[in-house]
Amino acid sequence: MNVSVCIKRVPDTEAHIRIDQTGTDIDNGGIKYIISPYDEFAIEAGLRVKEKMEGGEVSLLTVGTNEAQETLRNGLAMGADKATLLRADSYMDGLGTAKALAVELKDSDAQLILFGVKAAGSDQQQVGPMVATLLGISCVTEVSSFEFGDGVVTCHREIEGGIEVVEADLPAVLTITKGEYEPRYASLKGIMAAKRKPLEEREADFSQPGIHIERLSEPTTRGSGCILEDSPDAVAELVRLLREEANAL
Ligand SMILES: Cc1cc2nc3c(=O)[nH]c(=O)nc-3n(C[C@H](O)[C@H](O)[C@H](O)COP(=O)(O)OP(=O)(O)OC[C@H]3O[C@@H](n4cnc5c(N)ncnc54)[C@H](O)[C@@H]3O)c2cc1C
Repeated sequence: MNVSVCIKRVPDTEAHIRIDQTGTDIDNGGIKYIISPYDEFAIEAGLRVKEKMEGGEVSLLTVGTNEAQETLRNGLAMGADKATLLRADSYMDGLGTAKALAVELKDSDAQLILFGVKAAGSDQQQVGPMVATLLGISCVTEVSSFEFGDGVVTCHREIEGGIEVVEADLPAVLTITKGEYEPRYASLKGIMAAKRKPLEEREADFSQPGIHIERLSEPTTRGSGCILEDSPDAVAELVRLLREEANAL
């Protein structure tokens, strides 16, 4: 069974993010970029399908600038077979990204199209369901594990207070959470092999974004705490502080 995995290049989640002078973008200076961690779970899920079914290919797909080649090579080093970069040099919103991916995927023979449940950093959770809608195929979100039946995929979803089991016709889009998909590390052999694996590039089918980033701002910093002296007046003082300074009463 062939599997496509859509991955996004994002700033390292450990990086200290600063806003640039435009106030609408982040300052890229010195930031390391990685595969979005949820997308690593999706790659892992795709590789396990290939191992279990003993056949088929795992293809990676990303929409981004030339720098995203590195992201694709890192995914190939984990074990994916081939990759495609849909090159775009100006900002795309979620729908634009989904349209570019759908154009590429509509003639693909992948029975399963995997996404991370959300892209680290922007967290919009849009692209996977939008691609499924554009392709007119089933979509199951927040999948923590899955297995195949006859023309169907049975998915486990971690929901509030329990597990929901749903069955979807193939081909299908799944958005993956960590669940049982602890991503494997790329081995040295995998890193060397990745250099020779096919990586195609095409211009992304571009549509003007309908969503624009108006403004970015730092989260408000919390004030320092205070410790009250252990004295008979402490309770009264605590109530006063909660009422007058914290506005909590
Ligand atoms: C030149 C350029 C600059 C951009 N600058 C920014 C920016 O500053 N801030 C910003 O938030 N976005 C930016 N984008 C858009 C970005 O590519 C996002 O992909 C898009 O907005 C999707 O929304 P999201 O990140 O919330 O994804 P979500 O909807 O949360 O993503 C869900 C899943 O969809 C898949 N996915 C998401 N994006 C891509 C992708 N690009 N390629 C393949 N699969 C993907 C992944 O599997 C991901 O886990 C830029 C894009 C380009 C081409």
